[in-house]
Amino acid sequence: MSEAIANMLKEERRFAPPAGLAAHANVDAAAYEQAKADRLGFWATQARRLSWSKEPTETLDWSNPPFAKWFADGKLNAAYNCVDRHVEAGNGERVAIHFEGEPGDSRTLTYADLQKEVSRAANALLELGVKAGDRVAIYLPMIPETVVAMLACARVGAPHSVVFGGFSGDALAARIQDADARVVITADGGYRKGGASALKPAVDEALTKPGTEEVRNVLVVRRTGQEDISWTEGRDVWWHDVVDRQPDEHTPQSFDAEHPLFILYTSGTTGKPKGILHTTGGYLTQVAYTHHAVFDLKPESDVFWCTADVGWVTGHSYIVYGPLANGATEVLYEGTPDTPHKGRWWEIVEKYGVTLLYAAPTAIRASMKWGDDIPAKFDLSSLRVLGSVGEPINPEAWVWYRHHIGGNRTPVVDTWWQTETGGIMISPLPGVTETKPGSAQVAMPGISATVVDDEANEVPNGSGGYLVLTEPWPSMLRTVWGDDQRFIDTYWSRFEGRYFAGDGAKKDEDGDIWLLGRVDDVMLVSGHNISTTEVESALVSHPSVAEAAVVGATDPQTTQAICAFVILRGDAAEAEGLTEELRAHVAKQLGPIAKPKQILPVAELPKTRSGKIMRRLLRDVAEQRTLGDVSTLTDASVMDLIQAKLPGAASED
Ligand code: ATP
Ligand code: MG
Repeated sequence: MSEAIANMLKEERRFAPPAGLAAHANVDAAAYEQAKADRLGFWATQARRLSWSKEPTETLDWSNPPFAKWFADGKLNAAYNCVDRHVEAGNGERVAIHFEGEPGDSRTLTYADLQKEVSRAANALLELGVKAGDRVAIYLPMIPETVVAMLACARVGAPHSVVFGGFSGDALAARIQDADARVVITADGGYRKGGASALKPAVDEALTKPGTEEVRNVLVVRRTGQEDISWTEGRDVWWHDVVDRQPDEHTPQSFDAEHPLFILYTSGTTGKPKGILHTTGGYLTQVAYTHHAVFDLKPESDVFWCTADVGWVTGHSYIVYGPLANGATEVLYEGTPDTPHKGRWWEIVEKYGVTLLYAAPTAIRASMKWGDDIPAKFDLSSLRVLGSVGEPINPEAWVWYRHHIGGNRTPVVDTWWQTETGGIMISPLPGVTETKPGSAQVAMPGISATVVDDEANEVPNGSGGYLVLTEPWPSMLRTVWGDDQRFIDTYWSRFEGRYFAGDGAKKDEDGDIWLLGRVDDVMLVSGHNISTTEVESALVSHPSVAEAAVVGATDPQTTQAICAFVILRGDAAEAEGLTEELRAHVAKQLGPIAKPKQILPVAELPKTRSGKIMRRLLRDVAEQRTLGDVSTLTDASVMDLIQAKLPGAASED
C-alpha cells in the first residue's frame, strides 16, 4: 500500500447528535482535551471508576515495551467490581440480567441474585481444587450460568478461556491444550435455531485428545435436559449438584492489577486464531469507561443489549465486564435473530424496552434483506443509541439501521476495536460527534490512533494506509498466550514502536478515520490499491444488493482482478443484465478502475461464527486453491455452493 488508496467513497450525509442527548451526555467534548493534556492522568481518573482494595499509585510502566503494565501496584477483584459493590451501594434489587432463552423461557437476575450465584459458583470452583492462576475453559450456550461462571473464575483469580459453543470438539481441544486448562465448564446442550443442540459430546471428544490430560473436572450445567448424556465418573459433575449446595457468601480476594483475567482466541478471519491475554485492572478500567462513554449509559434507567455471543471479545467486554462494572441492566439472549421468526430481536427490544443496542453489521444487513416491514411491526421507540461492531458497516446499512431501527432519532456509533485491544478504541461519542455513515471517525479520549504509509509516515488527510496505535492503552493485550515472540512479531514489528492493527484505513478531509478492511484483503489493480470495503459499500448502495464480499484474484493483465460475490435483496431477482448494471454502478461511485471484473450472485457468504465475512476463503475459491483454515467458519457447505457457481466449475465435474 505504498500509495494512497485509489478510490474514495463519497459519503456526504451527516447527522448531528440529538440535542436532548447532548445536553445530558455522560461525556462531552472536554474529555478529548483533558486526555490530550494529560493522557496518563486521564486514565488514572478513569481507573477510579473501579473499587480497588489498594489504589494504584503508578499508571503505566512502559519500561520494557511492548510489555505494558497498567496500575501495577493496585489490587482489586474484578467480580467484586462487577457485582458486590453494586449490592453494597444499595442497588441489589436492580436487575442485572434479563435472560431470554431461545425457546421463550426467561429469567431475571438482580445484582443481589448475581452476587449469590457468583459466590456459590466460586465456592464450587474452590471445592474442585481450582487455584488462582489455574485456567478454566468455558464452553457454554448464552445462558446466565455463562456470565456466572466467568465472574466466578475472576473471583478466585482463575483466568477463563471461553470457547464459543458452536465450535467443534477439535477446536475446543486445541484451545484447552493451548491454555492448559484444569477444568471445563459446559452444559448438556443449548438451544439453537429452534432445537436443542448438544454440547457435552464435543467436550467428551475433546478430552480424548492428547494434551488435555490436565483437565480434572467437567462441570456440567443442565440446560436442555438431553437424556443420553455420557458421563465419566470422578471427572464429570453436575453444576446443580456441586454449585447449588454451596454457601451463597464468598469473600473475594484481591489480585494484582496485572493478574491474568482471561485468554481469548481471535475469530480467525485472517488465519489461525491467536490466544490473546488480558489482565485485570487496565482491562476493567477501559471497558467500564468506554461502555459509559460510547453508550452514554445511565445505569438507573437504561436497558442495554449487546447481541454478540459471550464467546467473542464483544461479549466479554460489553456483556460481562463493561456493563456489569457499570451496574447496568442488560438483556442476555440465547438464540439467533430469525428464530422462531425474523422479528425476534425487535420483539425483544419491545419486550424489555431496550434503550441501547449493540450489534454487528452482518445482522443489520440480514435485516435489510428480510425487509423493512419486519422491524416496523414492533415498538422500537425506547431505543436511544445504536452501536455497530465487528466489521466495517457499509454506509447504506448504517443509514438503514438509523432509519428503520432507530426511527431517525438515534445516533449510530460505529466502534472499531479488536480482541487484542480489549475495549473500544475508535468511535463517535453519541452526545458529541456529528456522525458520518460508514466511519468510526475518532479515537476515544486517551487513545492515540493514526494512519501511516509504508515508511511509517503519518498520511495527510485525504489519504489511506495502515491503521496504527501510537501509545499503549489500558486494555491492551499483554501477550499472545505462551508465545511472546508471536506477540512481538505480529503487532510490534511492522512499524517501530507502534502497534500494527492489520487493518487498512484512510483519513478523510476532516481527519476522521474510515476503516477499509484487512490489510491482507487490499487489492492491487493495474497499479492502484483498492479497498475491498469501498467496493463492497458501493455495491450495497445499489437497491438490489443486500450484502457483498469483494476479493482480488490473480490476473495476468491487471495483477489482481476484482471479483465480487453478492447477495441480492429479498425482492431483487437475478435479472438479466443486473450484473452489468452493478458493474456500471460501482464504476460510477468509485471510478472505472474499481469496476469488478466478475460479479457472482450467491445465496450465502462464508462467515466466521462471529459473523465476519471470510474473504481469504473467497480468494482461495477465486484463485482455485485448496481452502485455508476453515475451523472458525459457520457453515462449510456455503463454500461448496459458491464453488459450484464459479464459471469453470461445471467443466471440472
Ligand atoms: P483474526 O485476528 O484471528 O484474523 P479477527 O481479526 O476477525 O480474527 P477479532 O478480534 O474478533 O478477530 O476482530 C477484530 C477485527 O474486526 C478488526 O481488526 C477489524 O478488521 C474488524 N472490525 C471490528 N470492528 C470494526 C469496525 N467498527 N469497523 C471496521 N472493522 C472492524
Ligand atoms: Mg485480528
